[in-house]
Amino acid sequence: MTDPKRLNMQQLVSYLAENAGHWIESQRAQHRVHAKPLPDTTVAALGGFFEPETLDRTRIRNVPSIDNPPFYREFEEAGESFPLDFTVWAAITFGDVILVNGEQVPGPPSHSVVFHEMVHVVQYDVLGIHEFARRYVTPFIQNRFNYMAIPLETIAFDLQGRFEESGGDPFSAEAEIRSIIGAPGLPYAGSGRQN
Ligand SMILES: [Zn+2]
Repeated sequence: MTDPKRLNMQQLVSYLAENAGHWIESQRAQHRVHAKPLPDTTVAALGGFFEPETLDRTRIRNVPSIDNPPFYREFEEAGESFPLDFTVWAAITFGDVILVNGEQVPGPPSHSVVFHEMVHVVQYDVLGIHEFARRYVTPFIQNRFNYMAIPLETIAFDLQGRFEESGGDPFSAEAEIRSIIGAPGLPYAGSGRQN
């Protein structure tokens, strides 16, 4: 058992990035076998924004609820709660598998919600699961658990906002994601695909 209070910031980043990467991998494997291709209506609505192959290989699953990762228990046992609660999220993406949270989204998810998750599907494709986890966790910890300091999320919310305002008039979100993620000088840009 690791006591998160005994780790310095850099150790905490490494510890969480590694655990998050393994958790994402296992969640993807667990849910992919039960997940379905995106519905035709979703593919039609998002077709101008993402490549057909990307939409084709993505899987989606409605689950009754989303659980937090097992390593959160170590924070609870150390008297802290981990300040990112997935149980209240509308949806979450593990690689190419989108989970929709039935507790938050009783019916079919909006195109906007799926669009946001598709941004993450593309990010995972460029980075691989472990580099995605590292780029998610690092700015989150370094900015005092500020979720909106995570570039992988701010990009997803920016593009989602533009999608909502587009009135169905498409732009290549996928091309933008792929070019932004490798652009030098951006925070935590790294060197691209790691695996
Ligand atoms: Zn997101």
